Amino acid sequence: MEGLDELDLAFNISAMLISFTCLLFSVMLHHVNKINNKIFMLVSIIIGMNALGEAFSEIAIITKMDSDFVFWIVRVKDFLYFITHLSLCPLFYYYVVCVSGARAYYRNFANRLIAVLFAFVELLVLTNPLTSFVYYYDSERNFTRNWAEYLIYGVMTVFFVLAISRMKCSWRALNSRKRTSLTYFVVLIVIGITVQLLSSRIQVELMSESLGLIGIMFLVENEDDRIDGDTGLYNRRAFRADIKSFKVNRCPVFVVGIRITNAELVSKAAGYENTDVIVSLIAEYLKSLLPKYNTYNINSCTIALLIPDKKEEEVMGVAETISQRFDSQWKYHDMEVILTNVIMIADIPGRLSGSTATFSMLDGPVPADTDKKILADTDLEYLLRRSAVESAVSRGLEENSFEVHFQPTYYMRGNKLHGAEALVRMHDRELGNVFPDEFIPVAERMGVIDSIDDFVLKEVCRFIKSGIPRKYGMDCINVNLSVLECMKPGFVEHINKIVEEAGVEKSFLNFEITESIAADDYLLLSRVISDLKNEGFQFSMDDYGTGYSNMNAILSLNLDVIKIDKSILRGAEQSKIGYIMLESSVRMFRQMNRKILIEGVETAEQIKLLEPLGVDYLQGYYFSRPLSERNFVDFIQSASL
Ligand code: C2E
Ligand code: CA
Ligand code: CA
Repeated sequence: MEGLDELDLAFNISAMLISFTCLLFSVMLHHVNKINNKIFMLVSIIIGMNALGEAFSEIAIITKMDSDFVFWIVRVKDFLYFITHLSLCPLFYYYVVCVSGARAYYRNFANRLIAVLFAFVELLVLTNPLTSFVYYYDSERNFTRNWAEYLIYGVMTVFFVLAISRMKCSWRALNSRKRTSLTYFVVLIVIGITVQLLSSRIQVELMSESLGLIGIMFLVENEDDRIDGDTGLYNRRAFRADIKSFKVNRCPVFVVGIRITNAELVSKAAGYENTDVIVSLIAEYLKSLLPKYNTYNINSCTIALLIPDKKEEEVMGVAETISQRFDSQWKYHDMEVILTNVIMIADIPGRLSGSTATFSMLDGPVPADTDKKILADTDLEYLLRRSAVESAVSRGLEENSFEVHFQPTYYMRGNKLHGAEALVRMHDRELGNVFPDEFIPVAERMGVIDSIDDFVLKEVCRFIKSGIPRKYGMDCINVNLSVLECMKPGFVEHINKIVEEAGVEKSFLNFEITESIAADDYLLLSRVISDLKNEGFQFSMDDYGTGYSNMNAILSLNLDVIKIDKSILRGAEQSKIGYIMLESSVRMFRQMNRKILIEGVETAEQIKLLEPLGVDYLQGYYFSRPLSERNFVDFIQSASL
């Protein structure tokens, strides 16, 4: 039987080396802060120490040391083994709870009961030298199990079954790596214990446990695919996965989003290529403030934390602390900067339904009309609406819930129909009618405005092709373009293709663009406009008077019509200065040979006011609101009678 002792020795030395290697790697790779990291290290230490104890006593037996001494070693080893090894099942259970994101559960009543049970069996072992309830050594110094050992096995089995059922409940929250490695660990342990039970002579349990540790180290503890290489923070993918885990486990969680509002400005000023340095700086601070929680890099200027186990007031307290930190400077090498920030707090599934809504909050703009530094609760109402509108826009593109309405435009002289502006409408099955002022900016941010504008252009082409507009003496139909789309490569060809395929006369289309764009983009925009104009299209400047008009730039654009915004008309009605502004703008554009359209005309008095100015066209509720195609056709038909 001596050969078997040596085999056991080899097994236990290997188990010890493997366990301590796992520990070493955890420390080297800094997998040390999270609770699951700590449990993993503790388990590695316990298995390693147990294996060391076994190996030591086997050496003593093999080398036939003085038998009293050997007996003493064996007794100490057995005692330590029982005390520590007992905790492996509850630790494994707790580990599964942590990695599956179900941590909020561990405080409930059932778990307290488990803790009490655990304390009880530990007490049995601790008092065993006095009571011998668990085990004793017979007259030939053979290890003999007593009744309490079976009780302990029973309790351990309960923990093990709990861990497995936790895995089963959270199965959808675990990715395939976690599923594989945890299952592998369970299978190895079952095999190890079974072999140990069947043949008390061969010790493979520690060996199989340590092998299971390797799997967990590679596939659960190692988070390379979840970490952003540049900042060392968790990435968006990890954020999405973790929110999903919390949801699957029905575990509420608070999201704390920190937006550095001047990150780009500061990075540029400091000569950095991107905002990584700033983001890492804040991340370091957050990690030291809240080492227990995951910190995620959401975008170039937003970091988020997920806090599952705090109450709302506590989370607000955390936000206050973070916010106050921003009152003082941040130091990086020899640079000191002041960073401005806004903190957003919302709970899932309370205020936010899931990761899509959360990303929408963290990526979207913060409301301009607030001076609050911490946005929570009702401050976030706008977000809910925006994320609902985002979903509606996505749905709208799939289900085609868009429709084009037309608002007529008139000649100033003779009140004759001149044309129409195409205005898009969205009828969503959940939100009802949503107006473009709300959903166009959302669609622009989502990058889907081109699909909507294409749809409008095609609808308008189809309407022109029907021959009705020309029949009723219309000169053109105006179509709104999103300026950002205009500057995309291939835009001119794209528009040409749609219009040519529809077989519509290009001069019948008048594109509207708004004046509020950055000055350095004018060159490119000017080229796009002149290319399209060379093709025969007309162009209007929309909403004149609302942006920061760069006169030179506006004039450099070869536009046919300037549409003066309704706010200028309102101003002219209200004050002398307002009138002078309107009058001088009109005079200036007339001298430049631009046609002028006044928007938002609502009353006959306004038309009187405009008469002496010599504007060309009018548009507004005075004539008609935007109408569906059918109503618009009825409208111009009855007007022509
Ligand atoms: P806009 O181009 O300045 O369109 C004029 C807006 O003023 C329309 O609002 C119209 O219904 C409204 N309006 C017309 N007459 C009057 C009036 O007498 N009084 C008042 N108070 N308002 C009047 P709407 O349809 O809600 O469109 C809002 C904005 O959404 C548009 O402003 C335009 O910037 C954008 N938009 C609409 N359709 C499209 C589209 O197909 N593509 C793009 N890119 N943007 C669009
Ligand atoms: Ca317009
Ligand atoms: Ca306008």
